[in-house]
Amino acid sequence: MISVIAFDADDTLWHTENLFQQTQARLAAILERYAPHDEVMARLQLTERRNLVLFGYGIKGFILSMVETAIEITDRRVTAAEIHEIMTMGRAMLDAPLDLLDGAATVLDALAARYRLFLITKGDMLDQRNKIDKSGLADRFAHVEIVSEKNAASYRAIFTAQGVAPGEAMMVGNSIPSDILPVLEIGGHAVHIPYHVTAEFERHPELAPHPRFHQLTEIADLPALIARIDRRNE
Ligand SMILES: [Mg+2]
Repeated sequence: MISVIAFDADDTLWHTENLFQQTQARLAAILERYAPHDEVMARLQLTERRNLVLFGYGIKGFILSMVETAIEITDRRVTAAEIHEIMTMGRAMLDAPLDLLDGAATVLDALAARYRLFLITKGDMLDQRNKIDKSGLADRFAHVEIVSEKNAASYRAIFTAQGVAPGEAMMVGNSIPSDILPVLEIGGHAVHIPYHVTAEFERHPELAPHPRFHQLTEIADLPALIARIDRRNE
């Protein structure tokens, strides 16, 4: 029996990664006269990965990694005007309108009547909070949690604090390492709904079949899947 359905936010309920990809492409264009596109992208990925442990996930850390990449890849020749352009792109990301995925609001409305809905997202506290406010979806959730890392310990802590046995919980998200593997590990159900692009540090090979693991192509199919899994609906 499932009593709680927890949702990831970025690229599960609303578009996020497309904004990162567009901004990355513009960074490569700004730095074109110093280094080829692919080299900028590869260097940015390395810098981001190195900085994750210090800056965490989110746009502010991404801005700092873009600036650091620009300084390093140009051998410190990048101009103040170019740095300014990079900062401006970053600010625009923080200020961008939020774009919900098709069907997200309808699915939450359909499930809220029967289940407690949680939102579990990781990243920068202020940025995630702003996105939740902009989404207009906050009132659908019985509980909202912003964590710095999604792993077995953080999911276990959330479910324990909320009085939910992991076996009664289902997590829905676009990232196998963040939304699926740790939840399966603690005994929960997990539904993977891939987004059309995946951040480098969220990539993972296809999973082997698992009795508590499910995969969908779009969120609109979630209520039907849950109806099949949860015997309460029979
Ligand atoms: Mg996500």
